[in-house]
Amino acid sequence: MSESPAMIMTHLGFRLDPNNLYQQVVTQVLESAKRMELPGYLQLLMAQPKNEVKVHFPVKMDNGHFTLFKGYRIQHNNLLGPYKGGIRYHPHVSLDHMKTLALLMTMKCALADLPYGGSKGGVQVDPRKLSPNELQTLTRRFTSALGANIGPDHDIPAPDIGTNAQTMAWMADTYININAGQRANGMSVVTGKPLHFGGSEGREKATGQGLVYVLEELLPELGIEMEHMSFSLIGYGNVGSWTGRLLTRRGAKMKAVLDHTGAIFNSRGIDPQALTAHVMEKGGVAGFAGAEPMASEDFYGCPVDVFIPAALEQMIDGKQAKLIQAKVVAEAANAPTTPEGERVLASRGIAVLPAILCNCGGVTVSYFEWKQNRQAETWGLERVDGELRRHMRHAAFSVKENAAKYKCDLRSAAYCAGLSRIAEVYGVRGIFP
Ligand code: GLU
Repeated sequence: MSESPAMIMTHLGFRLDPNNLYQQVVTQVLESAKRMELPGYLQLLMAQPKNEVKVHFPVKMDNGHFTLFKGYRIQHNNLLGPYKGGIRYHPHVSLDHMKTLALLMTMKCALADLPYGGSKGGVQVDPRKLSPNELQTLTRRFTSALGANIGPDHDIPAPDIGTNAQTMAWMADTYININAGQRANGMSVVTGKPLHFGGSEGREKATGQGLVYVLEELLPELGIEMEHMSFSLIGYGNVGSWTGRLLTRRGAKMKAVLDHTGAIFNSRGIDPQALTAHVMEKGGVAGFAGAEPMASEDFYGCPVDVFIPAALEQMIDGKQAKLIQAKVVAEAANAPTTPEGERVLASRGIAVLPAILCNCGGVTVSYFEWKQNRQAETWGLERVDGELRRHMRHAAFSVKENAAKYKCDLRSAAYCAGLSRIAEVYGVRGIFP
């Protein structure tokens, strides 16, 4: 009999806490590993990241004073290839958050069949409070503090919440400047770069586009037609706004959006392009003229076909899950549903399409960008989208296949799909020495 996830975590020195995000996600992954009867060593390896890099670095602010920032790079696993994962700038960045997101990247890359392991990094900062000059200095200082912990063949950052193509350009430029030997290959140290500096067509919209391809594959079985469906969104950053724009282009109706500034509603549908322009200018959805303001409690209860969380972790707990009036929750964000939220949704017959499937489009097009950089190639948008669709359909198919094989929900099945690839490779590579 193999050990339970709680026993494994206790042996590793965790103090068990059901509300801890990292423990929630590790438990789900280990439950899938147990379901598949994977060897104990593999469960141990998944339960903790390989490396945890933590740095403190000073930045001279515009007022002449210094602020000391805390940054992380967590490298969970590199069995399948170099570590890969985003860099987040957010006040809630913490060790546990980074560990969770790094583990999810390992699972995501394995599921999407990419030659990468998983990592995640970030700085504890509210980027909205910094000037462009301060953001640039912070990014360059953080990159130099990470030093040899990142590299085109070792660990490849990308944008996440609070970072974008400009952040990646500063990171790549800093990396190239401090690594004289890497001039030719240096830009592939990060993905999600601006188009005219090694970026890829289709990368900016990739996570939203990937979600649309997953929905194309899975919604018909749930009796929903994308062309006629309604949806609501939490979050209107890169992922939320692209999802809104791409789904609306396919005929779907965006009825409600919630973000850190408030919630808005329009029964006839919100214009996603106009909302994108409003958010760019005002920093959030509040005050958008093309919709009515609404209370956040009412937002969760707004009847739609598909409910799409595209913001932070743990936003759908038991309380919110009880309110949601949708047929499907499609997780565009990482770990937006707590185990309690998931239990409530399941008891109410609401299907959950898991994050590592729904949002693996971003890292998939990151892989295409990295590949283009290294082969000195430029792909057109049609090729990028075509390859992305192929990867997303394949990932959705293997989730369904695993759900049938192990008779489990889609989240467990997505972990089983990722884990089976990892187990196969450990099987042939073995554990050093
Ligand atoms: N930050 C994104 C994610 O969570 C993209 C990561 C990447 O492209 O490496 O999937």
